[in-house]
Amino acid sequence: MVKFSSFLSRVSTLREPSPIRYLLRSPGMFKFAGGLPNPEGFPFEKITFKLKDGTQFNIEEQDLNYAFQYSNTEGIQPLLEFIHSHQLLKHEPKYSDWDVTVTTGSQDALSKSFEMLLNSGQGDTIIVETPCYTGALAALTPLEPNIITTPIDANGIIPELLEDIIKGHYAKNPTKKIKFLYCVPTGQNPSGATLTIDRKKKIYELATRYDFLILEDDPYFYLNLEVRQQNVPLSSDVSFLSMDLDGRVLRFDSLSKVLSSGLRIGWVTGHKELVERIHLHMQTNSLHTSGLSQKTVSKLLGTVWGVKGLENHVDLIQSLYRKQRDLFVKIIDKHLSQYVTYSVPTAGMFLWMKFNNIEDSKKFIEEKTKLKRVLFVPGQAFDPLYKPGPYARASFSIETAENMEDACIALKECFEQEYRE
Ligand code: PMP
Repeated sequence: MVKFSSFLSRVSTLREPSPIRYLLRSPGMFKFAGGLPNPEGFPFEKITFKLKDGTQFNIEEQDLNYAFQYSNTEGIQPLLEFIHSHQLLKHEPKYSDWDVTVTTGSQDALSKSFEMLLNSGQGDTIIVETPCYTGALAALTPLEPNIITTPIDANGIIPELLEDIIKGHYAKNPTKKIKFLYCVPTGQNPSGATLTIDRKKKIYELATRYDFLILEDDPYFYLNLEVRQQNVPLSSDVSFLSMDLDGRVLRFDSLSKVLSSGLRIGWVTGHKELVERIHLHMQTNSLHTSGLSQKTVSKLLGTVWGVKGLENHVDLIQSLYRKQRDLFVKIIDKHLSQYVTYSVPTAGMFLWMKFNNIEDSKKFIEEKTKLKRVLFVPGQAFDPLYKPGPYARASFSIETAENMEDACIALKECFEQEYRE
């Protein structure tokens, strides 16, 4: 197993379990120990959910009182059990000391993990892919790590380049340990890239050889849009977690893109020693993820739908996003083929466009496309050094065909104007 002490930040090692939360774990005791509000004072009696497919289910008073009460930091029992069996089914962790904790979306787990691993202001070394998810950069930047970037193509991180980068780092700084690699393996935000299984294996091998952790942030896991062929695994079928033998992978999952982002339900899976550190951090701020959200999800996934129901829902979501992607690609090709270059993403909700002959996409967006109400995120927002460049991120998740068409026509006019000037 990894020697975790060499990875933990000082702040994390100073965290101690809450003496009260620990006592509340003892079942069957008279309830004098905790500061639990009396549920008789809660005004809620019953919630009825009606699903779009007509299914109806209730959360009745007793369950509601439980949902609205303070609860375990790591998550309510039925949801934890569901997630545990789900992770076993999907990722089959290969060592026994793994654990999960429910978090308020993956963003919550990510920022807590960064704080767990990085000593603020000490310039701890990490590797991130470029372009990189802005939410990760926003959580990392205040900790002032030494960020090394590794480029990606349509198949994600390129292991050979990653190895050169690692070797280059250790040649210059032999004692400055690389603590982790942060990456988004499926439908990467912002590039839409999906790491192939072969590359994942090579990257995991590098992590073992050079002893760094892998932070596998996979909120687009359920949005793999590849069409399944018999006996051929999809890239997302083989996660870093599934190949981990020594607890060096911390995996972040989220229901945001598959059930609802407002529920704020995610979970982190990894070695107990790391997961426990995240609990301790939660004990000092959120205490736990919303009980109502947890109860709603555990009732829906655990009782009303079950595992098969989630699979069926994932199928629906995938066809929705596949349709949106195909529509967007068709409309871009119709109007913008001379003006933008891109690869068709096989997962997620983003299309990473290179604006041909434009050096600074931010300037172009601000000065031209915004005036026509067409907004993309300039690529530099995803660069730790905030360097200008020709790229922009477009999300195809939500717009109607009509708006896609109007926006692409407007964008074409912007290019024509820009090229004339
Ligand atoms: N990681 C990535 C790569 C994301 O794109 C997002 C959502 N934008 C998150 C994490 C945060 O997701 P959640 O809603 O689960 O906090």
